[in-house]
Amino acid sequence: MNGYFDHNATTPLHPAARDAWLRASEKHWHNPSSLYRDAGLASQQLESARERLGTLIGAEAERIVFTSGATESNNALFASLPAEATVVISAIEHPSVREAVRGRNVVELPVNADGVIEVDDLKQLIDSKRPALVSVMAANNESGALQPWRELASLCREHDVLFHTDAAQWIGKLDAANLGDCDFITGSAHKFGGSKGCGFLVLPHEKSRLGFIRGGPQEHGRRAGTENYPAIEAMVTALKTIGPCLSEVEHTQSRLRDAFIAEMRARFDSLRVISESAPRLWNTVLMVMPEHDNLKWLTRLSRRGFSISTGSACSSGKEGSSVVVTALGASAEELKRVVRISSGWETTAEDWQALAAAFLEVFEELKRGGRPQ
Ligand code: PMP
Repeated sequence: MNGYFDHNATTPLHPAARDAWLRASEKHWHNPSSLYRDAGLASQQLESARERLGTLIGAEAERIVFTSGATESNNALFASLPAEATVVISAIEHPSVREAVRGRNVVELPVNADGVIEVDDLKQLIDSKRPALVSVMAANNESGALQPWRELASLCREHDVLFHTDAAQWIGKLDAANLGDCDFITGSAHKFGGSKGCGFLVLPHEKSRLGFIRGGPQEHGRRAGTENYPAIEAMVTALKTIGPCLSEVEHTQSRLRDAFIAEMRARFDSLRVISESAPRLWNTVLMVMPEHDNLKWLTRLSRRGFSISTGSACSSGKEGSSVVVTALGASAEELKRVVRISSGWETTAEDWQALAAAFLEVFEELKRGGRPQ
């Protein structure tokens, strides 16, 4: 039994990514900026990884900058905008977007009752606020709700407004081939079987500048620091390897997830599943439990071998941690009962059933006053 249900926080290293990392570290560990032959080979491999990633996400390689992950990509993007620029962000963005725009002219785009952005709302904001850039994530990390990024990107294009999507949770779970239609894209390797500390930011075109991390002229002068080619190779390999399986995974896993929800509903009448009627990632369930604080659920499930989270890992432990449930207008009391389950590509029916059974066991334990049997 695999009790790991926190894939939206991070994923285990994919075996193909591990092999690619080892091969790259053994063969091409040289500094790609150095001038001798072996360094040149490392540099060629790095550029080949950029080309392959570009093909996978539908963006020209010249637009891609490798970074240390989605947090850096989001910060780098906003740091590159003029101070006076007005930016629109959705009410459910990750803290790495919310904090990066602090102190700027920011307009927040609300979500509907399903936790999804309405295209018409953005239309109105574009007319009234004339923003320089709109940032809406592709899939929400807490609820899994998919956002209409294709429609938002084309609306922005029509109005000459730049569009950014933080696709950290989309890439590796759903088809990423058209993401390149967005001006800016954020991605993170450890969300889809790559290693931690590696990601990318796609820029609008080959001439776009970026100066968040300064120093040497690496990444075509856009991001200083010796490139982590082995991690980059591992990231691209992970994405390439899981890509062809994704429609099958989506089909199988969303059915397992829905069976889990049905089972939980049968046991807990007033369970609330956030964004239940919206299109969602196949792996995510954000629930407001009918009773008991989320940490009580989390610690007791953890003792039984299950890893889940309270909202998003980046803000867990803090009161009111769920950005999404807050945006939906939940009470402080409800916020304390939020739990997030996020399965993986290989989670089985047995894993889901064992998790549902463990929820019931914990409930019985909490009824007895929290004492294990
Ligand atoms: N954006 C989203 C939507 C995320 O889910 C995360 C990870 N929780 C991040 C950004 C930050 O990613 P990283 O760990 O690569 O900095």
